[in-house]
Amino acid sequence: METNNNILSPIVHGHWRLADWNLSTQQLLSLTKSCMEMGITSFDHADIYGDYQCEALFGEALKNEASLRSEIQIITKCGIKLLSDKFPHRRLKIYDYSYEHIVSSVEQSLKNLKTDYIDLLLLHRPSPFFNPEEAAKAFSMLKEKGKVLHFGVSNFLPMQFEMLQNYCDMPLITNQVEISPLCLEHFENGNMDFFLKEKIQPMAWSPLAGGRIFNPKTEQEKRVHDALWEVAQELDHNAIDIVAYAWLLQHPAGIVPIVGSGNIDRIQAAVSAQEVQMSLEQWFAIYNAAKGEELP
Ligand code: NAP
Repeated sequence: METNNNILSPIVHGHWRLADWNLSTQQLLSLTKSCMEMGITSFDHADIYGDYQCEALFGEALKNEASLRSEIQIITKCGIKLLSDKFPHRRLKIYDYSYEHIVSSVEQSLKNLKTDYIDLLLLHRPSPFFNPEEAAKAFSMLKEKGKVLHFGVSNFLPMQFEMLQNYCDMPLITNQVEISPLCLEHFENGNMDFFLKEKIQPMAWSPLAGGRIFNPKTEQEKRVHDALWEVAQELDHNAIDIVAYAWLLQHPAGIVPIVGSGNIDRIQAAVSAQEVQMSLEQWFAIYNAAKGEELP
């Protein structure tokens, strides 16, 4: 079975916040190359990131060095229609997984990214109005034309994943979900067991809880912050991001963290976390801190 093992790098760089980093095209290009030197070759986008701007910023950087394209993997997503000045006729935010929208969204992503193929296309969120036949038809056409190489989903539950898989003539290779020491949802809703059963490696978005692990405000955040620091000291590290990444990377499901920072030293922490060996007790100390209670 095809897993994302041989399709994506073990750590992915996320471009959701790319527009906020205020990088010149040249700076973005050199950040991309630094990621690649560290073994991060997969870059996560969505049509909507940065109010529909981020894909084009990356495309501009890639244009300057066309030889990079074959050495990287581009992930993008579709399905959410945001309210935006770019679409003045829209009255509210909706999800659209019609054949027409999936295909036109991919065509636009290809233009923005200045490429002729997407490595991995994800349906961004499950929808209460979803026709799997249309999505599967769009996937088949995009694959046949070579416009998208692989397909997956994001924020789906196991039943939603299986439902779509049932209509597709290619394997869905991943489900991108929120996983961090401050988001245990997918350890508890059956998704993690489903990933193990199907040998699907999940991608973890907001692996540092969007930065909340560093500035704890709630009781849960304070407990997790303290537990991460305790493990960091035990492991002789003077930072907690490396511990949070190691906590994800060590899980048997083969979780692929998506690093959301534009700072190269912070990206390096995720790469270094691959070398960290945490004990099972340390793993559970962080889990229990997030739960606020001991195991039953
Ligand atoms: P994250 O790593 O949890 O959070 C990134 C934030 O943490 C940034 O603001 C970053 O600031 C801050 N940060 C990182 N290291 C830090 C440190 N050592 N000290 C203080 N602050 C630190 O990831 P995320 O950006 O929320 O999400 C990662 C990626 O997941 C996104 O880029 C996107 O590709 C994907 N995503 C997917 C979905 C989905 O629905 N599929 C949803 C959300 C995100 P600096 O930039 O200043 O370092």
